[in-house]
Amino acid sequence: MVEIADFISQTIKPSNNKTIPAIINANFRSTYLAFMKHGLLIDMDGVIYSGETLIEGADRFIDRLLKENIPFTFMTNNSQRTRLETVRKLARFGITVTEDHVYTSAMATGKFLGDQGANGTAYVLGEGGLLTSLHENGITLVDSDPEFVVLGEGRNFTLEMVQRAVDMILAGAKFITTNRDPSPKKPGWNNLGIAATTAMIEEATGRKAFVTGKPSPVMMRSARKYLGLETAETTVIGDTMETDIQGGVQMGYKTVLVLSGIAKKERLGHYAFKPDLVVSSVDQLDFPLKWWQ
Ligand SMILES: [Mg+2]
Repeated sequence: MVEIADFISQTIKPSNNKTIPAIINANFRSTYLAFMKHGLLIDMDGVIYSGETLIEGADRFIDRLLKENIPFTFMTNNSQRTRLETVRKLARFGITVTEDHVYTSAMATGKFLGDQGANGTAYVLGEGGLLTSLHENGITLVDSDPEFVVLGEGRNFTLEMVQRAVDMILAGAKFITTNRDPSPKKPGWNNLGIAATTAMIEEATGRKAFVTGKPSPVMMRSARKYLGLETAETTVIGDTMETDIQGGVQMGYKTVLVLSGIAKKERLGHYAFKPDLVVSSVDQLDFPLKWWQ
């Protein structure tokens, strides 16, 4: 493998070529891409699936990444599901990946709190993914006098629990929310959107939440490190300007917007930032990307 990589580096000058030269046949292709060391942080909802429906060609796209050994992780703001639950959801769409391919805002939150000083305590309004990650990072889950109140997505917490969290924050607990994703505002949608529950607690306490999920640098950076990439080697693929693309742009990553989800092409001119590439769906992407030189 090393010899092939050396051969490629000595005989091909990628900076002068926009595509893989024809001299490199299929057998060398994956080695060439691996040698170039670039990787992808891939949003899921609106990119791979929409609710319970697979987005056309997303399964082929992931197959290509796996076959060509292109490093990637799914990067999702959903802190509710555990990694295993996410893997099982993807399996229902015919996408076979492992838990290692999933990075969630729950993981980013757990790692952040762990890095800030282990042995902290937290009162959690959230579900399995968040509870697991906090526990794995040495945070003790408590029902009184916490150092942190941590809010994630969930349908199981009550207004009584919200009230308790409000009292804890008013008594001095620090308030963290895993993300601030809005509700899609569709009838029948099965949760309020964490932006709504965050706003409720902010209003009741007069305190602003610290956000760990996309577009927060907390998650954008820790997801990159999780993949073992440098800034210049990192590309974000997502469907939402306010999270995936803004987060990527602010970190200096390359960004690909897909139009298979929330973003509308006619609205892109309203933003002060823009993605490096816009495609209708991930199936349209060809590798190597043009900046992988
Ligand atoms: Mg999305």
